[in-house]
Amino acid sequence: MRIDPNKCVACGNCTYVCPMGAIYIDPVIKRATVDRDECVECYACYNGLSQEHLNPVMVRTMRKIFQTLRLRFDPEPDVCPTAAFTPEDLAWPRIVRRAFSDPRVPHESTGVEGRGTEEVKTNDVTGRVKAGEVGFTIEFGRPGVGVWVREIQEMCWALAKAGVDFEKKNPITSLMKDQASGTLREDILNEKLMSAIVEIKVPIARTEEIIRLVWDVEKRIDTVVALGVGARCDEHGVDREVAPILEKLGYKLERAKTNIGLGRISNAVAQAQKQPNQPELVTR
Ligand code: SF4
Ligand code: SF4
Repeated sequence: MRIDPNKCVACGNCTYVCPMGAIYIDPVIKRATVDRDECVECYACYNGLSQEHLNPVMVRTMRKIFQTLRLRFDPEPDVCPTAAFTPEDLAWPRIVRRAFSDPRVPHESTGVEGRGTEEVKTNDVTGRVKAGEVGFTIEFGRPGVGVWVREIQEMCWALAKAGVDFEKKNPITSLMKDQASGTLREDILNEKLMSAIVEIKVPIARTEEIIRLVWDVEKRIDTVVALGVGARCDEHGVDREVAPILEKLGYKLERAKTNIGLGRISNAVAQAQKQPNQPELVTR
């Protein structure tokens, strides 16, 4: 994202809407400026403010006159009065920022739709995490914090070394040049994202080991990491295998999402087990 200095009147409205704090009023040129390193191309500034098309010279002059009278002439707080934002045509690798930071754009750069994941929350439909396995979502970054791809790289290397399975239909996995070693493409390492999620699964017996590994890497990287755990319930709707491990590690358990499988049966095992006259369940 760029701000046209010829149009900007330094009203400061946009500095409040940028979730990364990447817009500041440059004291030298007295115009709003985007810190290109910190900007994650989320377009919250461009889409979040209404664009008026007032004449910048007129607005600056009025602001100066009002200032000398110790009064203020400010636009409404949700407006860029001079339509000063100028989105760039993003090229590789910078376009990766946008794919992970603006939830409204598909992942053209990764080949996967959404920020975004297949996630264990759809497991009853997809059958990804099977009995005896545990699925993890390891989420990096937040608005105001973000994450450099090189920090995600640290985690991917550690996880690959531990021999985990990376979810194939995940945007981060799609950006790996070598899944066996968890190595991401070098040309994206210096890109900053609002947030991103790595998805893996392992046998339940490795739950504690993986959580401790994530804790260890988290200490070495400069972002926030949120860990999600997906497990299959037994026939009574209860998880008796993974929950005790999490509680032992100090987590207070909250069941976040329960998927009861009212979706298209798309996994091979379920298809094979389907009775000949059993109707297929489809949600719309
Ligand atoms: S809202 Fe528009 S005019 Fe005001 S500081 Fe930002 S870019 Fe400049
Ligand atoms: S595109 Fe997003 S991160 Fe970049 S300046 Fe605008 S609001 Fe801030």
